[in-house]
This record gives sequence, structure tokens and C-alpha cells, in this order.
Amino acid sequence: MSITTSLRVVYSCVRCRAALVIRVTARRRARVNDWGMTNPTRNERASWIQGPSARCEPTPETVANPWRLILLGAPGVGKGTQADLLHQRLRACHLSTGDVFRAAGKQAQCDLSPAMKAALDYMRRGALVPDSTVWDMVRERSGCLHCGGGFLLDGFPRTLAQAESLKQLMETEGLALTAVVNYELPVNEIVARLSGRRTCEKCKAVFHLMERPPKVEGVCDRCGGGLYQREDDRPESIKVRLEAYDRSTAPLIEFYKRLGVLLSISATGAPEAICERTIAALTAWRAKCPARA
Ligand code: AMP
Repeated sequence: MSITTSLRVVYSCVRCRAALVIRVTARRRARVNDWGMTNPTRNERASWIQGPSARCEPTPETVANPWRLILLGAPGVGKGTQADLLHQRLRACHLSTGDVFRAAGKQAQCDLSPAMKAALDYMRRGALVPDSTVWDMVRERSGCLHCGGGFLLDGFPRTLAQAESLKQLMETEGLALTAVVNYELPVNEIVARLSGRRTCEKCKAVFHLMERPPKVEGVCDRCGGGLYQREDDRPESIKVRLEAYDRSTAPLIEFYKRLGVLLSISATGAPEAICERTIAALTAWRAKCPARA
């Protein structure tokens, strides 16, 4: 089965730097997932990545019981990879704040607000972007939290202030969080994962030089795009990111434990095995707490 997909291609004019946006319509294969349902390989997440004026195509399908999840864990535990795999299985849309900043980093400098330019400087150093900038960006995209397919928040919230703001927003908008999945991994494995990680510049698929190498060196198995090492995966940034996690994000574990929504999952082993573990824990969780379904 094939699905029609629109892609936005952005060209930047060398003289006036104006951005030309061209829509390219392509047909691509849909996949049949493990439950026998057709499922596109990846949702383009346009409303999240480009902002609310962009439309997600294909529009995520509305499901009866959308999963509304937060993925927690230190940088390098594999939240992005899990979000990708969970999206294939649960349909929920992968909403990564890091992906929004990286997409902004590819825009012409003159298209960026002063706050976004400053945010990109923080990101390159591996430091956290100030809460006010992150929150403005998330609040602007709050429509994505109402997505009929549910959501998987990856990389947000990262501080107690962000977690409080999200809690208030969800309460005001009548949205219930299904659960918070906290991925756990020893620090030496985290460092090894981060330094070997390579990301596809086109579809954002994640590979690892040792654990999950691409079939052809430097080329994405999924879309043929080039693989690159994220600036913040270099050794000097890794140290800063892990310190920022300990100081600002680790306290969220206690925050969500107190709210009774925390599920801790071991992030050791192959990505597919971790995903199976997550699905099993989530299914048991829903069976135990149907009120959250
Ligand atoms: P990630 O892809 O989630 O590892 O995010 C990459 C970088 O983006 C982080 O190291 C931060 O600099 C920035 N960032 C992403 N999400 C947030 C957030 N919720 N709060 C602060 N900074 C963030």
C-alpha cells in the first residue's frame, strides 16, 4: 500500500537570503505493523518541527486511547531511538525539543529571533537552553499535545520549572498524561553510546558505530541520507550535558514518582529489546490503572 506524502523543500536565495518553500509530493510505502495495521514509516512532524502554521502530512490517525507519554533519561540512553520505535508501534507522535532546535540551526541566521540564536549557542556547548525560550517554543506548539494519535515527549521537560509549566498546561487543557517512562543506564555505557552515535541529516534515524552500524559507512539505511556526528556528541559537550542532566533533569524522577506516573525501564541491550520491554511495561501499566488510559 502506498501513501501520498508532501515534503517541504526549503531553498535559500544566495542574494536576498529569502527562503523559497516548495512542496514536493511523493508516494511512499506504508508499513504493516505488528498488529496488522498500516502505518507510515515516519510521521513528518511538520507542526512540531516548523511550528503550528505547518500541517502534519499524513495527518496522524486519531486513536481511541492515545498514549500521552514523557520519555525521561540521561542524554545517550536512547530516548530518540525508543521514541522512533514506539511511534511505529503506538502511533503517538515523536515530539523532540532537541529536533526543533536542530531544525532552527539549519535556517538562515536572519530568520532566527535573538532568543533562538542564543538558544543555539547554549545547545552547541551542550548546556540547557533557558526555560523561558523552551517554554515559549513548546507553548506555541501546544496543539501537538492534542494530537489524536497521542504524543511521545522526548527531551522535554528537562527542568522542574518546565515540568510544572507542562503540568499546568495539561490540566488547563484537560489532557491526562498516561505515564512517564524513565530509561536507566550506567554512566560508562551512556558515554560510549553518545560518542559513537551518528544521526541521519535527512530522516534523523540514529545509528551507532559499534552497536548499530549502517550497512554502508556514513549512509542512512532508511533513506540514503548522510550520517553526521551531532556537535553536542563531542567529548567536551558530553561532559557538560551529563552535568546538566544530574543538576536539572534527574530531580524530575522524584517529581513524577510523587505524581504516581513513573515507570522505570532498563535501557541495556538492543533497541528492539528495550522497546519490547517498554511496551510490556506500558501495557501492564494500563491494565493496572485503566483510569489513565
Ligand atoms: P536533545 O536532542 O534532547 O539531546 O537536545 C539537544 C540540546 O537541545 C540539549 O543539549 C539542549 O541544549 C537543548 N534542549 C533540548 N530540549 C531542551 C529542554 N527541554 N530544555 C533545555 N534545553 C533543551
